[in-house]
Amino acid sequence: MDIKKIYMDADALLEGHFKLSSGNHSRFYLQSAKVLEDPKVAKVLAETLAKEIRKNGLKVDTVCAPALGGLIAGFALAQALDVRFIFAERVDGVMSIRRGFEVSSGEKVLMCEDIITTGGSAMEAAKVVKELGGEIVGISALANRGFCKREGSDIETKPNCKLPQDIPFFALADFTFEIYAPDDCPLCKDGSEAIKPGSRGN
Ligand code: ZN
Repeated sequence: MDIKKIYMDADALLEGHFKLSSGNHSRFYLQSAKVLEDPKVAKVLAETLAKEIRKNGLKVDTVCAPALGGLIAGFALAQALDVRFIFAERVDGVMSIRRGFEVSSGEKVLMCEDIITTGGSAMEAAKVVKELGGEIVGISALANRGFCKREGSDIETKPNCKLPQDIPFFALADFTFEIYAPDDCPLCKDGSEAIKPGSRGN
């Protein structure tokens, strides 16, 4: 499956000058919501990811996604794996599990994001799951931004990756493109202004 083509065809790989949530700048931005607006595509992507996870022999009771980014991918993946789906959300900036969701002691939880960049949000949500007694058995995402090593890829883990090395990470593809510190951004030097994706119709 050509994941990059699917993102291109859905106009989900944006080119411009973007300010990422990490504060860094980039020429490209992945807008997974655009890919997932077609439920049929979401289903196929989730089923492909589920197949990879099953092949690995991973036993999963529940998929947990950090809102908002991971909701659709997580729900579709839980459906493909035929397991329960819960999500974590930020309340006053702090990741929490609400909505009456419970996690049993020893419950095997697979975290799911749309895209893993450094994995910060996924690990914040994972911490809450662990505090409730759950066991994090894996991390998953539709796309990997190339900072963390996923199962079946040669990409090496970069120092800013926040995912633990002893838990498998599954994703469908690596999307590696450069990011720049704001004071060392060639696009800024050319005089353009970085925009926050989502803020101006992106
Ligand atoms: Zn810039």
